[in-house]
Amino acid sequence: MSAPAPEGTHRIPSGAGELVRIEGVHKYYGQHHVLRGIDMTVRQGEVAVLIGPSGSGKSTLLRCINHLETISAGRIFVDDELIGYREHGGRLHELRVKEIARQRRNIGMVFQRFNLFGHKTAVENVMEAPVQVKGHDRASARKRALELLDRVGLSDRANHYPAQLSGGQQQRVAIARALAMDPELMLFDEPTSALDPELVGDVLNVMKDLAASGMTMIVVTHEIGFAREVGDTLTFMDGGVVVESGNPRDVIANPQHERTKGFLSKVL
Ligand code: ADP
Ligand code: MG
Repeated sequence: MSAPAPEGTHRIPSGAGELVRIEGVHKYYGQHHVLRGIDMTVRQGEVAVLIGPSGSGKSTLLRCINHLETISAGRIFVDDELIGYREHGGRLHELRVKEIARQRRNIGMVFQRFNLFGHKTAVENVMEAPVQVKGHDRASARKRALELLDRVGLSDRANHYPAQLSGGQQQRVAIARALAMDPELMLFDEPTSALDPELVGDVLNVMKDLAASGMTMIVVTHEIGFAREVGDTLTFMDGGVVVESGNPRDVIANPQHERTKGFLSKVL
């Protein structure tokens, strides 16, 4: 038996080792039906790679997982906890802002655009949330931030401002910043799409090390080599549905659907 749920949360027992469970998720923007019944699970320590054409709903799905978007139907669980809602009398009621913020702290997100604070140095960017949100003292937050910058290969750039860093370096600072909150899940939304080609490898290597350390990750990317090498699963989305999902090598070598074949032939 697990411990009773804290006030305001809703827990249900999941399958062994499941960290993320997405059940029948729909999302409308007005009349626009963007997610059309998504089911997906990600196990603890897994790297789930998500691919699909522009507009297929990949970013929307990531944004639903940390409740940056409200879902129109379905349920999302992270670590057995219903995200964004509590269930009462068979209906879902949106959680209070404070509860949503608490859930989000467990989920790190890295965007295509790095969104660093331009007036803060690399180390200050990484320290910011632990100090402001978690109330850590500045000295210990700085020490940890320097360790994280070292981990992403930027110990010599700690006192640089974002404008003094390359795009790849900024993205690695953004990864360190997300890790500073000790998330149990990391979401990456096309983290290398805005980078010059020669800077992509360093960012992918940091993500690869993170995966090897056991972090659970959902990664939207067109880097098929990364999917093949690092992904535990590869999911192809199109038109707001999961068209197919499986072992990355199998999906890449032997796609089952015409739409997957067509997409892969363009990105391979
Ligand atoms: P992807 O990341 O796969 O390119 P998105 O999730 O960004 O796809 O978008 C899926 C669809 O939802 C697109 O048609 C897009 O125009 C639409 N969309 C995304 N965000 C919004 C929004 N905030 N308001 C209205 N429509 C949106
Ligand atoms: Mg997107």
